[in-house]
Amino acid sequence: MFENLQDRLGSILNGLTGRGALSEKDVAQAMREIRRALLEADVALEVVRDFTEKVREKAIGAQVVKSIKPGQMVVKIVHDELVEMLGSEGIGIDLHAAAPVVIMMVGLQGSGKTTTSAKIAKRLETRDRKKVLMASLDTRRPAAQEQLRQLGEQASVDTLPVIAGQSPTDIAARAVQAARLGGHDVVILDTAGRTHIDEPLMVEMADIKARSNPHEILLVADSLTGQDAVNLARNFDERVGITGLVLTRMDGDGRGGAALSMRAVTGKPVKLIGTGEKMDALEEFYPRRIADRILGMGDIVSLVEKASEAIDAEQAQAMAARMKAGKFDLNDLADQLRQMQKLGGMGGIMGMMPGMGKMKDQMAAAGMDDSIFNRQLAIISSMTRAERANPDILKHSRKKRIAAGSGTDAAQINKLLKMHRQMADMMKAMGGKGKKGGMMKGLM
Ligand code: GDP
Repeated sequence: MFENLQDRLGSILNGLTGRGALSEKDVAQAMREIRRALLEADVALEVVRDFTEKVREKAIGAQVVKSIKPGQMVVKIVHDELVEMLGSEGIGIDLHAAAPVVIMMVGLQGSGKTTTSAKIAKRLETRDRKKVLMASLDTRRPAAQEQLRQLGEQASVDTLPVIAGQSPTDIAARAVQAARLGGHDVVILDTAGRTHIDEPLMVEMADIKARSNPHEILLVADSLTGQDAVNLARNFDERVGITGLVLTRMDGDGRGGAALSMRAVTGKPVKLIGTGEKMDALEEFYPRRIADRILGMGDIVSLVEKASEAIDAEQAQAMAARMKAGKFDLNDLADQLRQMQKLGGMGGIMGMMPGMGKMKDQMAAAGMDDSIFNRQLAIISSMTRAERANPDILKHSRKKRIAAGSGTDAAQINKLLKMHRQMADMMKAMGGKGKKGGMMKGLM
């Protein structure tokens, strides 16, 4: 399943993930390659266009989290867009209706309709503990009715006894009636197929629908037929109305174009996929899982997710631990300043505290605004690592160098150092209490 796309996307994205920085040109180049890979996987052109455009926009506007490389961020964006394209949430068969719930299976001959009917029936019986009745409505091919009977026997699922000469609609009505009497929870109607769509087939499907009032109408389509399957779905939906799809032969489909375009083109969810001839070769179609499988980079995706969530918590925790130990150097101060900027600067912080609006105005009048944060951060980043860890070594010549590096002067540096000293003293006092089980303890 999806092997071709896996290989292609893998190598395109691997080329990005290792790099430290990405230019707009790099992203554009990757998008061109992704576009080609999707088209070669037989994904519908309109879907490819939409997909690459969305990824490009997000990749360019993306804010890269500190511990994540830009390429890893692109992987996450591609992943999320794939999930979106596939329909976000996995939707299984819906049984929320009064029993017996009728499931009508439609599709072309040879698509795997009968096999899939039996697979679904078996799953509902064994996993969901439902009592299921299957009925073949294919009156043109007696062998089809016999095939369903045999599959029913194999899977220990009841099948409706055949009465020769009955019309498909009559069989449908009889099946629903028999299920009601027999205490079945679900009825699966396996309708007749044709080699291609024609008018009589559509009329027959509409009649069966009218007589049996199905809760689910599932189109079974061969995934190997690619975009033909997508067009088929569109046709069936227009004429009969479908609630979802089952794509069969996914086990032999290295490209995956039908599975990938179906939702975006038809608006109908792929509910299940057939992955083999055996009775249990049926899987739920979970967009997230499929995207993980295609990209094969689940570790990077979860890394990016976790990093975005954890980064703030981590910083706060590390800072708390240092404070507890009575440590608060200029690196810590810089972290604090950045956190404050993140919260929307002075205005943002004041805005969060009730009654602070007036104070904000006063501070602004006194020339205290967000440019102070920037200046202070500039001063700290002009220091060496040793200076940041131990500000006591900052004598005249060092300050001169820092002032030149940050575009400030000695007075501003002294002001920052004084502020830092006051904060450090305060932290130390609090940390000391913490060691004796005081106020900080409850916070850790
Ligand atoms: P129908 O005419 O639509 O009822 O199709 P059948 O159910 O008779 O299936 C036709 C053939 O396709 C059978 O040989 C099935 O075993 C096979 N088949 C059905 N689903 C799958 C699938 O998901 N994978 C593979 N490999 N074969 C399948």
